[in-house]
Amino acid sequence: MVLSCSDSRVPIELLFDVGFGDVFVIRNAGNACTEGSLASIEYGLEGLNINLLVVLGHEGCGAVAAACADHASLSPSLCQLVLHLRQELVSSAVPLDPEIAVRRHPELTARQLMRSSQLVRERVNSGALVIEPACYTFDHGKIEWMGSILKS
Ligand SMILES: [Zn+2]
Repeated sequence: MVLSCSDSRVPIELLFDVGFGDVFVIRNAGNACTEGSLASIEYGLEGLNINLLVVLGHEGCGAVAAACADHASLSPSLCQLVLHLRQELVSSAVPLDPEIAVRRHPELTARQLMRSSQLVRERVNSGALVIEPACYTFDHGKIEWMGSILKS
């Protein structure tokens, strides 16, 4: 399964060369750890017995860029999401530079998924789930893999 950004420039089935019915995809702005994404991931683990989770960020992510910037005109829900992303970056001492943050953010999301979900944590620690943070780059059309998250 893949947790990715909602950005239409990141078409999961095309990037991974798979068809309909092949990948369980969860999307939101900034591929964030939210109640909705957690619930969907837990369904993927318990209901579908999936053993691989890709957390896919991307270059030029508007949500991550907003998290790195001062933002006063966002709607309340979007502001909450962006502040959540910003808090993750700041607490992990990631510079608020969008070019850097988009590459670190997928791993931060993965670690937060583990902290937030006992099921995710148990599956990773038992070896039943591998989480792969990655970043899709538009310039080269490549996916940069950031290193597997195995047992903590
Ligand atoms: Zn994005």
